[in-house]
Amino acid sequence: MTPDPTVLVLGDQLSRDHGALRDRSPSSCRVLLIENRSMLTSRRWHRQRAHLIVSAMRHFADELRDAGFAVDYRRSESFAAGLADHRRDHGDPPLVAARPSSHAAVARLERLGVEFLPDELFLTTTEEFEAWAAERTSLRMEDFYRWQRRRLDILMDGADPVGGRWNFDADNREGPPRDGRSWPPLTAFELDTIDEQVLADFDDDPDHEFWGAEPVGWWPVTRQQARERLDEFVEHALPVFGTHEDAMMRDEWRLAHSVLSSSLNLGLLHPSEVVEAAENAYHSRGLALNAVEGFIRQVIGWREYIRGIYWLWGSDYADSNALDAHAPLPPALSGDATTEMACVAHTIETLHDKAYVHHIERLMVLGNLALTTGTDPQAMTRWMRATFIDGADWVMTPNVIGMALHADGGRMATKPYASGGAYINRMSDHCKPCRFDPKKRTGPTACPFTSLYWDFLARNADQFSGNHRMGQQLAGMRRLADLDETRARARDVSVALTKGEL
Ligand code: SF4
Repeated sequence: MTPDPTVLVLGDQLSRDHGALRDRSPSSCRVLLIENRSMLTSRRWHRQRAHLIVSAMRHFADELRDAGFAVDYRRSESFAAGLADHRRDHGDPPLVAARPSSHAAVARLERLGVEFLPDELFLTTTEEFEAWAAERTSLRMEDFYRWQRRRLDILMDGADPVGGRWNFDADNREGPPRDGRSWPPLTAFELDTIDEQVLADFDDDPDHEFWGAEPVGWWPVTRQQARERLDEFVEHALPVFGTHEDAMMRDEWRLAHSVLSSSLNLGLLHPSEVVEAAENAYHSRGLALNAVEGFIRQVIGWREYIRGIYWLWGSDYADSNALDAHAPLPPALSGDATTEMACVAHTIETLHDKAYVHHIERLMVLGNLALTTGTDPQAMTRWMRATFIDGADWVMTPNVIGMALHADGGRMATKPYASGGAYINRMSDHCKPCRFDPKKRTGPTACPFTSLYWDFLARNADQFSGNHRMGQQLAGMRRLADLDETRARARDVSVALTKGEL
């Protein structure tokens, strides 16, 4: 007699309502979860990231047991070893899993004979995204977003967007407010015995190497916590989300951001319920449209677009390096050196404490530094994967390769997101106390970003010469009377950053 099938649940598929466990009852299957030690010891994870994944898996296993499922939870040296042990102990059952979220995991599980069911944790299937892309020559996120709005009937008034405009981004680019306002509350969840055990297990294993502060409960490890986080966001933060979403502030790490990405990326929340909660709040409470539309665009636009691109362009995309960038990751980013660049130092400090900084800090501080110093894109992707609380492969690969480091030669973003200190000065309160001057590009007090920015343009001028969106910037660079001096300063900055001495 063939044994009941085993449903393999991966660490980012923690959902009973979507994917391989949907419509399953305790009598129809066994559930397998594998804690993969070689993965946990393979790189220097942020301690909160590693804790989140393992704790959420153990909590999910307990919830399934409470619901009557037979759960085989294995702490194994490798994924293959865990699977082999399960097969041996349970009569070699057929194994099914929702399709994994990364190219590497798909290849690995295929080799191990696991049958795939659809990945239901997104609003757009890979086939739908492929069909959308096949009809176009350029894959603009804004076009995809409008297609999503129409297709999913979100914030629509018949055939038109609610409020007469698709996109309120122009209203959402304000720098830090100067009114001394307080920001919406964010509740941390108390760590329980499972959390404590995870941390104790980490400490017992001498091969673990972590970076970052201890978890204090910022990141939901159960569906119930994730739902509470969603409710708290919609109640208090969504009404003021938007206007200052790009601002960077010394005394405020979260502003009005949802900080729901880790819960969405583990399957604790489904994007449909997040979007529904936001849209309902817009209609029932009359929230500002720039706030609600801006948030919904993040979920049905950016998130789904990035994931679609990840699958559409295949596993080789991760190896792109169109700008021939090979500098090592600056130790100021990895946390192995301190830096006097106030914006970078503060961003890394927040990352150390929370395993999170928001999208502009990622793109215009960390990404911008890596881009303008010519940092190796694969090294940057690996570091961001291991360090951010929401750092899945499908998230980080297109965001680093396509958006932040322009390593795909402009296939995704039509121009590189490089900037000097002026942008950071406008959008943050970091520059005032900094020892560097964002307006200067030469001399010992010149802002490193400003010197690096001009050098980046000069270094890649040939590559960008056919890009009409870069024409103005290149013309500005060619007009600089002190370009040689600026580039010499940029070289000194790069060397000092590489040595961890700036
Ligand atoms: Fe950052 Fe330059 Fe501003 Fe200093 S002056 S905070 S290095 S942008």
